[in-house]
Amino acid sequence: MLGDLFTKPKKRKYATIPSDGSKPDVPEGIMTKCPSCKKIMYSKELQKNLKVCSYCGYHHSLGAQERIAYLVDEGSFSELDGNLTTANPLGFEDYMDRIVKDKKKNGLERSYFDWNRND
Ligand SMILES: [Zn+2]
Repeated sequence: MLGDLFTKPKKRKYATIPSDGSKPDVPEGIMTKCPSCKKIMYSKELQKNLKVCSYCGYHHSLGAQERIAYLVDEGSFSELDGNLTTANPLGFEDYMDRIVKDKKKNGLERSYFDWNRND
């Protein structure tokens, strides 16, 4: 019990900032750099602040799923017509290929329920 109070603190790993001007050694996803004020902050702190920079008030971009999660109470959102997709009634060339590519890029191919499923 008392021995727990006097144990050696665990070595913490800090990000290193090289002096040669190259990119700092910051693990991806842990820290976020504000594009407006250029300050670096913890991603979790930024999420707690609803993706608003606590230094300058810049609003970082939100994905659709994030926006829904911030707006509604947990479990209260029900998506309507989540399986609807676009069509190409005017016959634009390569339109459907671009739609498929964009869906993969933004992750909106899945519905809200797929995002929040824990399996
Ligand atoms: Zn900022």
